Amino acid sequence: MNDKAPLRARAEIDLAALRANVRTLLARAGGAQLMAVVKSDAYGHGAVPCARAALEAGATWLGTATPQEALALRAAGLGGRIMCWLWTPGGPWREAIEADIDVSVSGTWALREAVDAARAAGRTARIQLKADTGLGRNGCLPADWPELIAGARSAEDAGDVRITGLWSHFACADEPGHPSIAAQLNVFHDMLAYAEKAGVRPEVRHIANSPATLTVPESHFDLVRTGIAVYGLSPSPELGVPADYGLRPVMTLAASLALVKQAPAGHGVSYGHHYTTPTGTTLGLVPVGYADGIPRHASGRGPVLVDGRIRTVAGRVAMDQFVVDLEGDRPGPGSEAVLFGPGDRGEPGAEDWAVAAGTIAYEIVTRIGARVPRVHLHATDATDATDVTAGPRYDTVVAGTGTGTGHDGNGSTAG
Ligand SMILES: *Cc1c(COP(=O)(O)O)cnc(C)c1O
Repeated sequence: MNDKAPLRARAEIDLAALRANVRTLLARAGGAQLMAVVKSDAYGHGAVPCARAALEAGATWLGTATPQEALALRAAGLGGRIMCWLWTPGGPWREAIEADIDVSVSGTWALREAVDAARAAGRTARIQLKADTGLGRNGCLPADWPELIAGARSAEDAGDVRITGLWSHFACADEPGHPSIAAQLNVFHDMLAYAEKAGVRPEVRHIANSPATLTVPESHFDLVRTGIAVYGLSPSPELGVPADYGLRPVMTLAASLALVKQAPAGHGVSYGHHYTTPTGTTLGLVPVGYADGIPRHASGRGPVLVDGRIRTVAGRVAMDQFVVDLEGDRPGPGSEAVLFGPGDRGEPGAEDWAVAAGTIAYEIVTRIGARVPRVHLHATDATDATDVTAGPRYDTVVAGTGTGTGHDGNGSTAG
């Protein structure tokens, strides 16, 4: 592929910004280690290049949801500690143990499968026990903790496992001052104390996600698990904007206008004619749609920077395209439409699309489809000192090729 060829659409991933975000978060973490959470193809940013950049910037752990995602990181040659937490019976325990991946255990069925796999592999499994301190999702409830701890300790004494971590996850860390935050910390302290009394000597204890890393210092323990903040986005509007924390958005989503045309007054636009031109005007065709992850719920609302001005999606977002009313402006076909980015040129942020679609910025970036090529900029540390006048450096351009293939080209993620 010609790296410089104009693309229908592209998601530029600024790895220098990602590295700077990791360093900023490490400075906030008060001596705790940092796990870069790179699940779901690094929230749509490309798992392997993002994981590599995070480690370069000082992250010592990588986190994924599924074991397949974790195994793909190792297969791509990534070192450092890797942990994955979303297991189902029959999962690839043995492969994970052999790849030196920390596996999370939330219940006795998982402990049994980890022990069996460790014996089959002839290795000690690194397991992290997950506590449900109040999220009410995955994890072991306090009432079941003694049984899990007892089982894990005897497996440890038998040499089948080593309990490397004790951990939990917050329900409402993105709502500063929510009473559940202190309540969960209390429960976590109790469950840690119980485990330690039973002889558990974990390498890491951790509970903080991005919002807790940014706003709850007493939650940092030995390790913080940051996802959204690594990608330079604010966890919630209540926490403010990325710049409030010295974070810079990593993804810029842009497309090339496919058509600009004069239309008469009273002309219906896109499916259902939910927009009608109020006067004679110019219409611009932006060639991305809900198949690319542009939320259909943002029909009539999503903001786009075109030719120096913010325009709004006119009518429905279709599968592959949507229209903006350019009110007489006539940028040429091929002109850039910037849906979101760090804001340097006045473009909207992913948070603005989240508001337009009634969702969170996490979902906006994570759902950008496999059809949109990820263009990774500043893949090496040497390019951190960006000369802005030199324009973007297209270090890698890897187009998504459809389902089952990661954007990094190693077939890593299921999206
Ligand atoms: C996704 C996830 C994180 C990261 O959350 P952010 O809010 O993106 O920082 C941390 N821990 C677990 C268990 C997760 O599933």
